[in-house]
Amino acid sequence: IDENTGRRRVLLKLSGEAFGAGQLGVNPDVVSQIAQEIAAAVDRVEVAVVVGGGNFFRGAELSQRGMDRGRADYMGMLGTVMNALALQDFLEQAGAATRVQSAISMTQVAEPYIPRRAERHLEKGRVVIFGAGAGLPYFSTDTVAAQRALEIDAVEVLVAKNGVDGVYTADPKKDATAEKLDTITYRDALQRGLKVVDSTAFSLCMDNGMDMRVFGMEPAGNVTRALLGESIGTLVSV
Ligand code: UDP
Repeated sequence: IDENTGRRRVLLKLSGEAFGAGQLGVNPDVVSQIAQEIAAAVDRVEVAVVVGGGNFFRGAELSQRGMDRGRADYMGMLGTVMNALALQDFLEQAGAATRVQSAISMTQVAEPYIPRRAERHLEKGRVVIFGAGAGLPYFSTDTVAAQRALEIDAVEVLVAKNGVDGVYTADPKKDATAEKLDTITYRDALQRGLKVVDSTAFSLCMDNGMDMRVFGMEPAGNVTRALLGESIGTLVSV
């Protein structure tokens, strides 16, 4: 909770897959829909966003195909910045004030990542979009979402997923007996090897007592619901 404004502060993680709707690049209709769902909540909640980049490049995949991992990861991070700019555009069209902060300096395009300044934007009701991940190879944007949530003192990480509506006892795409859970502990999720969110993100949240809600982007309105604190999907906690 923001001491200055009394509003809930949350960190929303959006995957790149959502932006591309399964294809390379950005699907404007999908990003516009997501932006409208965020804009619908900004008068009641402070929203920071971490965007993924899987619709452009995933470093691990490129390195399996022969590229240097570090360089491929930087390509992945640059992809997240394109998504951040697309989201910024549609948020502004939807009437929300926004700032993009990048972990890799590119001052013509985005502010540098300055956590105190990000908090100030949030207090003023601006949506802050964090691009370029952590600026470090070998990290994922899930982990960055957990780290940013901790650093800006958000109450929870909201992880929006495509094609799955929460945490299951096993991968529901591979195991027909998999059941959806309303709650799970980080320890349990890690022990069961559940990969819906990566293990570094789970353990960072576990070690620092940060709650995480994993939910599906479908049906429409779910992003707004999660931002406003509805108990959809699965709550992961210590
Ligand atoms: N990445 C990175 N460091 C970070 C964040 C991201 O190296 O701090 C790279 C990594 O190669 C990753 C890619 O950026 O595969 C895209 O991010 P991610 O896979 O997390 O996106 P998502 O799956 O959420 O679309």
